[in-house]
Amino acid sequence: MKPISKIQAVVECKCPRCRKGQIFSGKLYAFKGQTTNEYCPVCNLRFEREPGFFYVAMFISYAMNVAEMITIAVATYILGLELTYENLWIFVAIIMVGVFLFAPLNYRYSRVFLLHWLTPGLGYVPGVETAKVN
Ligand SMILES: [Zn+2]
Repeated sequence: MKPISKIQAVVECKCPRCRKGQIFSGKLYAFKGQTTNEYCPVCNLRFEREPGFFYVAMFISYAMNVAEMITIAVATYILGLELTYENLWIFVAIIMVGVFLFAPLNYRYSRVFLLHWLTPGLGYVPGVETAKVN
């Protein structure tokens, strides 16, 4: 079976080492929420590389959130809402709705970006699922 590309592994939230196991369990917008698996179900990689590892994802999530807020504000302006003092609360309300809608996405993809692109020494290893190394 041909392995999936790195971009596809990121989009589908697959393990950075085997690109087969899921990083998260639960659906993105499920009522009970999503949780990060402790270990990859295929290659047994521990996703939290060290204590406090996912705190870094909080900063990535923050950067994603700021970019989304600016994009929503600019899109609202382009779509016709004038930026006046009276419309300020409408802008804030639209941005806040966007923030809440994107929050589960930021949670998920900040961790995926951290694991795939910002963790040194963690890369794709073909055939690792049979080796069972950690
Ligand atoms: Zn894996």
